[in-house]
Amino acid sequence: MLSLASAALFSQLSLQQPENVEKEPEDCAFEQISFTTNFAVGRLHHCEKTDNNQYSLYLEPEREKINPSPWYAFAIENLTEESQTIDITLVASEGVSRYKPKRSEGDDMWHPIPFSEGDNWLQFELTLSAKTKEFIAGQEIIDNVHYIEWLSSLIKEPQQSEVISLGVSSEGRNLAALEHKVKSSDKWIILIGRQHPPEVTGALALLHFGEILFSDEAYVVKFRQKYNILLVPNMNPDGVYHGNWRLTAAGIDMNRDWNNQTLPETQALTNYLEKLVENGGQIEFAIDFHSTHRNVFYTMPKDYESPSGAPLRNPHRVYDWIEEIAEMIDSVELEYQSGNHPESGVFKQFIADEFAAHAVTYEVSDSEDRNNIKKVAEAALVSLVNRLD
Ligand SMILES: [Zn+2]
Repeated sequence: MLSLASAALFSQLSLQQPENVEKEPEDCAFEQISFTTNFAVGRLHHCEKTDNNQYSLYLEPEREKINPSPWYAFAIENLTEESQTIDITLVASEGVSRYKPKRSEGDDMWHPIPFSEGDNWLQFELTLSAKTKEFIAGQEIIDNVHYIEWLSSLIKEPQQSEVISLGVSSEGRNLAALEHKVKSSDKWIILIGRQHPPEVTGALALLHFGEILFSDEAYVVKFRQKYNILLVPNMNPDGVYHGNWRLTAAGIDMNRDWNNQTLPETQALTNYLEKLVENGGQIEFAIDFHSTHRNVFYTMPKDYESPSGAPLRNPHRVYDWIEEIAEMIDSVELEYQSGNHPESGVFKQFIADEFAAHAVTYEVSDSEDRNNIKKVAEAALVSLVNRLD
């Protein structure tokens, strides 16, 4: 949520974003309680009071028939002088319980709420103290402002690293990236995230991975002197802002657009990568962070050749990498699956086809324990640095 300090940082970076758009759900202001979404990532369609202290809150996707991942995030305010216990039912056409409800007092600490569920509903009880406001969301709220502050906090070598904008989204939000350049190397790793806005566990993995990658640990300091890095943690700032279930503001699934390149977001990153290669850069590896119902790494097949006939560089590296992660982390279930889907328009295939490099879709389970997410992300980084040595 936008604080004064972060607003100042914004203008300093010239990465101003339209974050002050009014957006409120319909019919959600009641005498004793109000539900609001007037903050980045907030999302709720409309409300209904069904009985004393009972409210139904309706969730709607940005477009019909998309992946049923009903995202919700709203503030709830007790307007009375007394504490209130209320029943909330979230209603969506399907899949409403993909994201389990969590509550926060606005301090970035999120606590799971016990709930019951049916086919298209999810219900829980809340007790709110007099005159208090809380936030309820399907996962932790990580908004656009957070990413920009975070990227600039990572910079360790100001002469080599800077926060840049790759271009702007459909609605004019900057695609902020950390670019780390080493004069003596032409090798690059590319890290992207948040193509799909509600996939927050993938975002948590990327944040942890990035924090260690730009930490003072000796092995990464050494790595940063050998490798160029492009880190784009938030590819879909419009979708994140609106709390979209899956798409960009243009109504397109970004991770199906890498062949067609209809979106300013996919075009911006592609332009950057093409220029990088024109200037002698070589993409060695790319990771695209997502979430689904399990932990799974999607790769290209071992023997895959790009359409130009070029085999991918270091074809075994990605498999050695996954194997080593699994060895390091035996307490967390990890799967991997390789596949070649030329028409899919997914990022990993695009990187393989255009740049003859392996890329991985790094999917984190929606309900994975947050410490496990960190453990796997750290193992993934350690093992990747070993492979790229
Ligand atoms: Zn995804």
